[in-house]
Amino acid sequence: MAERTQHRPRKRFGQNFLVDAGIIERIVNAVNAKDTDAIIEIGPGQGALTDRLVDSCAHLDVIEIDRDLAAEFRWRYESRNNFTLHNQDVLKFDFHTLPPVAGGYRLIGNLPYNISTPLLFHLFESRQLFRDMLFMLQLEVVDRMTADPGGKSYGRLGIMTQYYCRVEKLFRVPPTAFSPQPKVESAIVRLVPYTELPCPARDTAMLEKVVRTAFSQRRKTLQNSLKSLADKHVLSTLGIDGSRRPETLSLEEYVTISDALVEVT
Ligand code: SAM
Repeated sequence: MAERTQHRPRKRFGQNFLVDAGIIERIVNAVNAKDTDAIIEIGPGQGALTDRLVDSCAHLDVIEIDRDLAAEFRWRYESRNNFTLHNQDVLKFDFHTLPPVAGGYRLIGNLPYNISTPLLFHLFESRQLFRDMLFMLQLEVVDRMTADPGGKSYGRLGIMTQYYCRVEKLFRVPPTAFSPQPKVESAIVRLVPYTELPCPARDTAMLEKVVRTAFSQRRKTLQNSLKSLADKHVLSTLGIDGSRRPETLSLEEYVTISDALVEVT
């Protein structure tokens, strides 16, 4: 986007702007926008992706918290009739206020890393509205989202991401692709919310509670960390060894525990 004034990147908003044309191209290709798509971009920043998306989709909504950057977009895209700016905090943004679109919205964003976990959980709440999501995130966060049981990266974020979505890590992005450069590596991840959950829990709130409680002290055994929710007999009745560590259980096993607790409460 052509800028009228020099913008000084704001750390508090996680502003690391994409400047590598090759990486921008790879992201745009991965999105593969069609002229029938309704896209929402979170944190458009200085428009590295926005300029490309707005030309190739039916409608583009952008959500940007920074007032100065939002003003720049107002000026730049004022004549477009397929562009809507929301100068808001995405964590408070109610996606249900957008007009419904057939097939669902496509969500794109080089996300502010400082709010990535709460933001992902906020988006999961509105997942029925989204056809797919393509995000740039810290590599370590993408590794947690895609982790299998057993490793250090496996935990609440991966379990709940994989509960709601099919998730695929696409490619890594080095710090040199940004200005200013972040201290960490990044990666692109694609999420496709399930229309029918492959492993549905009777009560998702209970599943979230079980997973959160299990991982609140990940060094403890399952029976110790879940003491407040279930006694060890519940686990043994389910054929789950209470001396296991929380990172060794599959999503299916967490759903089994959660369903049993819904029955007894
Ligand atoms: N998309 C641009 C790019 O790739 O160059 C900018 C990405 S930068 C990592 C993150 C963007 O998200 C910034 O523009 C920042 O102002 C915006 N942002 C940060 N926190 C936000 C929030 N809570 N709600 C909406 N936008 C936010």
